[in-house]
Amino acid sequence: LRMHSATLDQARAILQQRFGYPDFRPGQIDVIASVLGGSDTLAVLPTGGGKSLCYQVPALALPGLTVVVSPLIALMKDQVDRLVARGVPAAFLNSTLDPDEVASRLARAESGDLKLLYLAPERIEGPDVIRRLCRNGVRLLAVDEAHCISEWGHEFRPSFRRIAQASEALGRPQVIALTATATPAVRRDIAIQLRLREPRVIVKGFDRGNLDYAVHGCADETLKDEALVRVLRAHASPAIVYAPTRVAVERLASRLRRAGRRALAYHGGLDDAVRQETQEAFMCDRIDTITATNAFGMGIDKPDVRLVLHYAMPSTLEAYYQEAGRAGRDGAPAHCVLLHHPRDRLTHEWFIRGTFPPRSVVEEVMTALQRLRAGSEVLVSAAGVSRACKAVDVRSAQAVLALLVREGVLQRPEFDSNVWIRLLATPARIRRELGADAVEVEVLRAVWRVGRDALQRGMVVDLHRLPSRLRGRPARRLLESLRDHQFVDIAAADPGLKLTQPGAPLDAGQLDWRSLERRREAEIHKLDMMERYATSAVCRRSFVLGYFGERTDVACRQGCDNCRASSRPNASTA
Ligand code: ADP
Repeated sequence: LRMHSATLDQARAILQQRFGYPDFRPGQIDVIASVLGGSDTLAVLPTGGGKSLCYQVPALALPGLTVVVSPLIALMKDQVDRLVARGVPAAFLNSTLDPDEVASRLARAESGDLKLLYLAPERIEGPDVIRRLCRNGVRLLAVDEAHCISEWGHEFRPSFRRIAQASEALGRPQVIALTATATPAVRRDIAIQLRLREPRVIVKGFDRGNLDYAVHGCADETLKDEALVRVLRAHASPAIVYAPTRVAVERLASRLRRAGRRALAYHGGLDDAVRQETQEAFMCDRIDTITATNAFGMGIDKPDVRLVLHYAMPSTLEAYYQEAGRAGRDGAPAHCVLLHHPRDRLTHEWFIRGTFPPRSVVEEVMTALQRLRAGSEVLVSAAGVSRACKAVDVRSAQAVLALLVREGVLQRPEFDSNVWIRLLATPARIRRELGADAVEVEVLRAVWRVGRDALQRGMVVDLHRLPSRLRGRPARRLLESLRDHQFVDIAAADPGLKLTQPGAPLDAGQLDWRSLERRREAEIHKLDMMERYATSAVCRRSFVLGYFGERTDVACRQGCDNCRASSRPNASTA
């Protein structure tokens, strides 16, 4: 049995001194008490609920090292920087570091110099990493975004499956798993996959009492436009309108401007400056409405959003809850309205089918890859694969390639190493003009060995495949010099994809088809639940809470359209 090695009071003191907050949030208290009490803990708190502190504070309260496994490499550095700024000895390991840097950080962990070490999931099972972490022991293993371990979650990552083995190899430290999006099935799966021991499961904070939920069924698109304008008129601003495509986002913005709103569009297709400006305008209330794809919202915390309207449902209730939840962060009343048309489902089904292409198509693509590999092509693109197949269009090829990347058969080479090269002069002429010993000629010879005749038409070459002296950046510099002589034409290439194990046989049988099938089913199930939310007559608040597994007996107090309808004296029982 583990001893209580720190109390909640000590944890609170750390919160105040290191992080400057007066107290924990209700969900955090339960989670931190459970961790300090020595239990394996699964914490389900909504986005923005403060999950990071649930392991950062215990990491400081407990003796020894806390290892944090997180898939969000981009956020890792940020988190660590912030901790270091607060005087917490923390570091991260991921694929962006060179080997020396990795070694020095591991040495700090080994010598007991670090309190928190963040790792990408691919890193944790490295034998060197395990060996060196074992030396001083790992007190707590925190697994962030833990739903990634489950095929039933919407972001399954096979690399997460290795965390359990790594945890055994580390002597099975206490584990805290955290997620914002686990349904009961995913929660069970997380506990099984991570081999949690009698875990305390804490689901808190999903009930947002100030949010009012409503759905408007619309028989066609023009009715949706009318409903949009009507709903916006009926509610206070600022408002966010989410729409599924960039085209729709632009169209709705101008539709709303015609209706007298100060509305601007926000999506990933706009250039950075425009996007930045639009966001600013919304944050400072220069506009009252922003129409946006789901690219809008990440890291944006405007507390006084009064209405979030979805022009069409997202594919999961998780996504809906997260986006709709951007309303009313200040605690004052706010509205979440969904416009629903039965056909909205079809787009999502189409995407899901694209994500999980049928086996026959995957087989044809893999056979084509085999042929391409036998030839000189080292990097493949959807267009190239489609050309090499009898009956696979570019879009389907793209879907299969994406699947093969997710399954680890193909990978994206580092962007920098790919260059599209076309030879403009004959090798003989280049030799003559530069001299056979010129280092440029050497690089050209190496590229020629990779590409041969294809170089005359232009092809993508992975500079990492060149002999070691030239590999990577030196080769690029030499190619640039050749371009300046107008011997070659070069361009940054669409990176294309390469085989993860160039020598291994390519066989569709190597994919885990049962797992793929389960994941497809899980996606469809999530879509079913989203649709059921949109069409059911039960209390929408309890539907959402039931979905996430928080208690379902909350009083809605007329905080949704269905409860209002059923409490009207002449409500029908339909
Ligand atoms: P999550 O990972 O759950 O989305 P974060 O850990 O990023 O959430 O926290 C969201 C925000 O809430 C952060 O700005 C964090 O500093 C703040 N926060 C967390 N806990 C508290 C607290 N007890 N008091 C005040 N602010 C907090």
